[in-house]
Amino acid sequence: MSVDRSTIWPYRDGEPGEFYYQRYAHPTGVEAERRLGELDGGPALLFASGAGATTALALAFLSPGRTIALAEGAYFGTGVTFQELERWGLRVIEFDQREPPPEGVDLIWLEAPSNPFLTMPDLEAAAAHPARVVVDATVATPIHLRPLEHGADFVLHSATKYLAGHDDAQLGVVVCRREEDAARLKEFRTRSGIVAAPDPCFLLLRGLKTLELRVRRQTESAAELAQRLEDHPKVATVRYPGLGGLLSFDVADEDAARRVETSLRLIANATSLGGVDSVLESRARWEGERVPPGLLRLSVGLEPLDELWEDLEQALRAA
Ligand code: PLP
Repeated sequence: MSVDRSTIWPYRDGEPGEFYYQRYAHPTGVEAERRLGELDGGPALLFASGAGATTALALAFLSPGRTIALAEGAYFGTGVTFQELERWGLRVIEFDQREPPPEGVDLIWLEAPSNPFLTMPDLEAAAAHPARVVVDATVATPIHLRPLEHGADFVLHSATKYLAGHDDAQLGVVVCRREEDAARLKEFRTRSGIVAAPDPCFLLLRGLKTLELRVRRQTESAAELAQRLEDHPKVATVRYPGLGGLLSFDVADEDAARRVETSLRLIANATSLGGVDSVLESRARWEGERVPPGLLRLSVGLEPLDELWEDLEQALRAA
């Protein structure tokens, strides 16, 4: 499919057709949503970023005074987005997602697995709660987990990560269990303008063609690297739940983490995750005391496993 960058399409016989103004819908976005909907098993809606999708879900389905139960240790930026919304009367409490969610909350926000602690939520316990359940499955991807099949009401992905997969497109997606929720979210998206542009949607469509191949290979490499890191004398803790290409591990302290970061030759010292190129960074720089000072997060790419291990080994010598 080629990219149609039009913002307008002519009416037919005086009536708007399927496409008439880009903010409502455009062909590349609709095709990408069709593919994403198949992958997660429900109607999908794209947004300008994962954070944009988070904002849209909170604002479309909650109102002042409502409470979100957010998984402790979930993506730092999700908590920051909610902090911004607290000025508008939203309340947020954190809980251990391995346990049942607290009573009396209005939306449950899980992450599978959490970034960078890599805990897995108790999906059955959350599904038994009367509140709606969102699962941010950015790290698991639909290749490993389809949360709607486990009772979730919404799946959210930063499509910037594995789904697009090449570190060149910023997008978010929400896949809904119910058609009426998708209709409400789409209405909110059009009115708020948190929309996905055609070009990133095109890159996403291309990335999706290799999603399964990429994720399976990244998972295999991550599992092997996690094992080797476990046995490394400079590594204290390795967090890897066995699905996806993301892992984290601890070296002695923040200085040791900095030395590892700056000694890398093949693996990029950069943020983000889910791309074909491996990246590693110390998370304390962004998350402060919320994470162990020596925590390093590694997103495993598609490079040959032995080259990745060689790079990690030589960088860990500096730790
Ligand atoms: N959810 C998770 C688990 C993430 O890791 C991120 C970004 O790192 C986001 C959501 C936000 O996505 P975006 O950066 O596309 O806004």
